[in-house]
Amino acid sequence: MFKRDARVVVAGAGPVGSFAAYLLAQAGYEVIVLEAAATCLEDMRASTFHPPTLEMMDEIGIASDLIERGLKAPVYQYRDRRSGEHYEFDFAELAGDTKYPFRLQCEQFKMAGLLAEKMEAHPLADIRFRNRVVSFSQDDEGVTVNVETPYAVETLRADYLIAADGANSIIRKWLGVEFEGFTYPEKFLTLSTTTPVQDYFENLSYVNYVADPEEWVVLLKVPSVWRVLVPSKGMSDEELLSDENKVKVFDRLLGAGEGASVKTNHRTIYNVHQRVAEKFDHGRVLLVGDAAHLNNPLGGFGMNSGIHDAECLGNALIDIFKGRGDARSKLAAFDRERRAITHEFIQRQTIRNKKMMEANSADAQKAYAEELKAIQQDPQKRREFLLNQSMINNVRLKQAAE
Ligand SMILES: Cc1cc2nc3c(=O)[nH]c(=O)nc-3n(C[C@H](O)[C@H](O)[C@H](O)COP(=O)(O)OP(=O)(O)OC[C@H]3O[C@@H](n4cnc5c(N)ncnc54)[C@H](O)[C@@H]3O)c2cc1C
Repeated sequence: MFKRDARVVVAGAGPVGSFAAYLLAQAGYEVIVLEAAATCLEDMRASTFHPPTLEMMDEIGIASDLIERGLKAPVYQYRDRRSGEHYEFDFAELAGDTKYPFRLQCEQFKMAGLLAEKMEAHPLADIRFRNRVVSFSQDDEGVTVNVETPYAVETLRADYLIAADGANSIIRKWLGVEFEGFTYPEKFLTLSTTTPVQDYFENLSYVNYVADPEEWVVLLKVPSVWRVLVPSKGMSDEELLSDENKVKVFDRLLGAGEGASVKTNHRTIYNVHQRVAEKFDHGRVLLVGDAAHLNNPLGGFGMNSGIHDAECLGNALIDIFKGRGDARSKLAAFDRERRAITHEFIQRQTIRNKKMMEANSADAQKAYAEELKAIQQDPQKRREFLLNQSMINNVRLKQAAE
């Protein structure tokens, strides 16, 4: 007989693993979170929390703490870089559908950091930094997880292992799971700056998708900085990160001669994928977040849908621990539901969002602008569009399947 160290071990203290772990601890179950890095990584990836995700934060009691750390962005814009024309969409119109009718603009590491603080103070949660999962095995009774710590290789035993160890998940690789889909040929470059970008535009929102046949841009405000995201083909990483390229990006964005004086806080390159694991449920090992699926960041769905996985799985495990239903059918239902939503909503919508942005001829741009105008001017179409872009329809898809 093995001694059990916790009911659940979570690999990865990113936003998804931290959410799953804290949900379980709050429900009364012992959980150990293993994080390979020394702290919550302060990278510039997700910055948008959608309304259903804020409702889930509310379920675990952290919505108001998180909202305090971010910026409320009810309005977002699609802009045409050449003509300056823009179309606004306002989540405030969804006030009857959600308690949080806005996007929260907040760096993802603030959420992971907030949850790490909460877990450090929680009697049932044990978060261990500099602890890397190296291998695992499972049997009828539970999972055995081997962990590299700064001092030794330790072995932990739990009922379940949640793999929230990100895009390069070692657990997914050990399971030999196909990660089906494709990788875009271009990379995305994100630059962040404290330069007041809003001063260069009329009426800029905190979230702006700027179309241009030559180089589209996403402009996002978070409390600390403005973030600029551009696609890039045919340049080496060194060229992409160079001062010369930074000047060109900001000259195009803010006007000729402006780029040289812009100071950047981060310059980061990302590969962009559309991939979904063939299965999320592997017995006592469950995949969630980027370990389970990846999509391009247009629309801000990646982390949000990962948190939705964590909420769905966490509640399935709570039901199992409480003896409410058969474990196998609960986990199979988690797998079915989350893979269906990932394929039917997240993948489809993000691929479409990217296609709309990169229309690369004057005619395609005109068609794109006309499509947005038609949506904006028709109350029924606008409502449906807002329900999709806010991910509320995504959650309703789940409720309809129940
Ligand atoms: C440019 C860009 C912009 C984005 N913007 C948005 C957005 O606005 N909204 C949105 O919803 N999504 C966005 N995303 C996607 C979002 O960043 C990811 O979906 C999100 O980080 C996934 O969270 P996660 O917890 O699954 O994985 P991660 O955040 O990658 O966390 C995984 C954690 O696991 C740890 N780890 C890895 N291996 C091990 C191991 N063997 N043992 C222990 N720990 C391990 C890592 O150190 C890491 O801390 C964006 C992505 C990019 C690239």
